[in-house]
Amino acid sequence: MSVSSVSSLAADQSVCAPLSVLGRDVTVPLVTGGEVTYAALDYAASAPALQRVWDDVAAYAPYYGSVHRGAGYLSQLSTDLFENARRTVAAFLDCREDDQLVFTRSTTDSLNLLAAALPADCQVFVFETEHHASLLPWRDARVTYLDAPRTPAAAVATLERALADRDPHGPALVCVTGASNVTGEIWPVRELAAAAHAHGARIVLDAAQLAPHHPVSVQDLDVDWVAFSGHKLYAPFGSGVLAGRADWLREADPYLAGGGASRKVTRRTDGGVDVEWHETAARHEAGSPNVIGAYAIASACKALSEAGFDTLVARERHLIDTVRAGLAEVPEVRVLSLFGDDAPRVGVLSFVVDGWNSSHFAAALSAEYGIGVRDGLFCAHPLVRTLLGSDPHTQGECGAPEAAPGEKSLNAIRVSFGAGT
Ligand code: PLP
Repeated sequence: MSVSSVSSLAADQSVCAPLSVLGRDVTVPLVTGGEVTYAALDYAASAPALQRVWDDVAAYAPYYGSVHRGAGYLSQLSTDLFENARRTVAAFLDCREDDQLVFTRSTTDSLNLLAAALPADCQVFVFETEHHASLLPWRDARVTYLDAPRTPAAAVATLERALADRDPHGPALVCVTGASNVTGEIWPVRELAAAAHAHGARIVLDAAQLAPHHPVSVQDLDVDWVAFSGHKLYAPFGSGVLAGRADWLREADPYLAGGGASRKVTRRTDGGVDVEWHETAARHEAGSPNVIGAYAIASACKALSEAGFDTLVARERHLIDTVRAGLAEVPEVRVLSLFGDDAPRVGVLSFVVDGWNSSHFAAALSAEYGIGVRDGLFCAHPLVRTLLGSDPHTQGECGAPEAAPGEKSLNAIRVSFGAGT
């Protein structure tokens, strides 16, 4: 197979974007000479900003000021924008009335914040298939790693079994991804949430890949928390979100200690310092918050809601079906899947090409065709190793040398779409 067969991935121009994104008309030089319009097929890593987000941020930037720290006009304006952004994002996620929404740096930051807020003796249940951001933050807790399920029903059954064996008295948390950053497959979140709650556990949804592609309703899915990143939701200005139940967050020590998180600080007569911490989201937002990042996320949420997810989902399905049909014609290609062909999925797909080093393949797509894809293990090492049929416990690192022709690949190639593709 030649790389050019895969260049058809970028060739479907029949679907126009419902939303305008930046960088659509960037031209890049090719090693073969000349230049070509760049085809960004790596939205799962980071999505270009929506034009609307860029315009909103540019309009606000001259009026940037500190948040919650002044009576001056710029500070008041920034505080209003920041708090309105919180309300907009909470509405986008269909949060409960009494949920808290904390602005963080990213999904990774959000899940680490929740990990730091776990009650004592909390048991955590997480599938080995998770992105490292969902897999790793819990290591100070009692973690049960669940084997990769091969169907959505098996995922629910595996969780049920694990929860049935747990100590029913202590707190427990399930962490699950909404859509895989490797296969794009959508997980049975509502069913997993029901299983968690039936066993007295709570559940956090890693929506890093789901939220940009699919509506996420905290109430409908009945999840306790949800986390996502602005830069994957067309708002690449350094912010993320953790939204959900207030109690664990309110009872935990502040994620960072500092101004903004503290309501009152006094010197004690013994020379020490006493602190009263806020009980609102500010408790975990110490320091000057990233108001532009929060405002950008809110702008993206509004744009996505106005465009309508039905349109976005239909476009992505068309693109992914086109890619799958094209790849199916190439015998050397194997598409990676946990749940099989019929599983619902977002616009993310990974594959290996027999006899090709995935890193070389991705480099050639970029250098010879101006197509940007991702190669590697996608920060989900156990999952990719399972999908490649290599030992999930050992073998292979990001960028590891590739297998010889006919041997199993050690890493993969990923294409991903979004608004504007
Ligand atoms: N969860 C999933 C499913 C992801 O795909 C990613 C990033 O690729 C993350 C979490 C981490 O997101 P971030 O790097 O923005 O913290």
